[in-house]
Amino acid sequence: VNDNSKPADLHKDKLLGGLLAAGFDEDSCLSRYQSFLYRKTAPHKPSPYLLSKLRNYEDLHRRCGPHTQSYNKMVEQLKSGHSTGSTDCQYVVWISFSGLGNRILTLASAFLYALLTNRVLLVDRGKDMDDLFCEPFPEKSWFLPLDFPITDQFNDFNHDSPQCHGNMLKKNIINTSTESLPSYLYLHLIHDYQDHDKLFFCDGDQGILGKVPLLIMKTDNYFVPSLFLIPSFEHELSKLFPEKETVFHLLGRYLFHPSNHVWGLITRYYQAYLAKADERIGIQIRIFDTGTGPFQYVIDQILACTQKEKLLPEVDTQESVVTPADNPKLKVVLMTSLNSGYYENFRNMYWEHPTVTGDVVGVYQPSHEEFQQTEKKLHNRKAWAEMYLLSLTDMLVTSSWSTFGYVAQGLGGLKPWILMKPENQTSPDPPCRRAMSMEPCFHAPPFYDCKAKKGIDTGALVPHVRHCEDMSWGLKVV
Ligand code: GDP
Repeated sequence: VNDNSKPADLHKDKLLGGLLAAGFDEDSCLSRYQSFLYRKTAPHKPSPYLLSKLRNYEDLHRRCGPHTQSYNKMVEQLKSGHSTGSTDCQYVVWISFSGLGNRILTLASAFLYALLTNRVLLVDRGKDMDDLFCEPFPEKSWFLPLDFPITDQFNDFNHDSPQCHGNMLKKNIINTSTESLPSYLYLHLIHDYQDHDKLFFCDGDQGILGKVPLLIMKTDNYFVPSLFLIPSFEHELSKLFPEKETVFHLLGRYLFHPSNHVWGLITRYYQAYLAKADERIGIQIRIFDTGTGPFQYVIDQILACTQKEKLLPEVDTQESVVTPADNPKLKVVLMTSLNSGYYENFRNMYWEHPTVTGDVVGVYQPSHEEFQQTEKKLHNRKAWAEMYLLSLTDMLVTSSWSTFGYVAQGLGGLKPWILMKPENQTSPDPPCRRAMSMEPCFHAPPFYDCKAKKGIDTGALVPHVRHCEDMSWGLKVV
């Protein structure tokens, strides 16, 4: 806990250097005002332009949010089935879909899209979005009202839905010269999306979408890297994020405040197990192989990574006691996994043997839920608490392909060591690689040149959008 700042700084820190708006009720969302106590001062400051954009967005949200005149007018149009031309506010609705890590990344992507297109973001609360997060915008809720007319269709929206943007393009029901556009379009941006859906990432199609008052989006991907490749967004993005790799870091800290009960899970755990450590090391284990584990090749891999990269000391298996160092450190490992086997292995190793440095290593794991249970409230609260706790560590090791790990690294502002994906049940060599940036990876990007209308390697167009360390076809901002 960092409590040595001066009072004036304290106030500024509290609002994360102006990132957060003042004027919320503190008790309703303790994490908003207490998070700075658990984090090191952030080295990545938001640009003044981002701050002004956020304040403008908050005004827009106040003016157009749920149950305002503009919102009611949009709902009327939706019920009537066709757009009646100009509307003063436009909207993007984010549909709750997929695992929690995925949802956090896609919601940040949808918010950035809303900022870039001056739309109001409204959030489908799904099973438990309102249980997990505080409201991020002052005065007006970010949740789509419960009586929104077409919520019951969200589940069924797919790439062949009649309202689907890509499907309508494919059937030539809409094109760049269409005058009368529908009152809403569904954007299918899930990993199984088709070529026509991917035209979302082309300037020409952004032109069409700009005329539609309501867009409804379903995605399981962090699509921000491809927004950087749309020429009409390029300039604005470079003004918003002069330091490009801070997109999710800053938007994440702005948007995602754990609700009070999740904050309780986080702070109690932190105080009990992490606060006294000299060094905190997060290890996030997510295995996509079939079978329950724990797998020896994964244990070997984590060990090889943490020792090669000097994140953790080696143990002396010959000696039962090692003369303590002058100033022995307490290193605490926070492990997260669905399974307790990895944690037991590491905890026992550091209990049964002394470290060669004389440092002491404690190993903790908050839960072992065994399998993904996205429908359960406490399960998701724990998952969110664990992502957040990982983000409070000093050094982080993550698993390839996992959005759970991406959320932790982004919120923490950490460049993790990524455990490479094992092939054929063998530990990869090297066991891990340091990430190029703290940004998440877009797992299913388009490979299309909108102008030339042909395939292209979108990871080789600009220096700041590259292929990911953990997925060769993915894209990330660096
Ligand atoms: P991804 O599948 O790794 O990209 O991450 P997601 O968060 O989208 O989906 C995985 C889900 O599995 C999480 O949301 C949790 O419900 C569960 N899960 C996976 N790993 C862990 C873990 O280490 N701890 C907890 N509590 N839940 C986990």
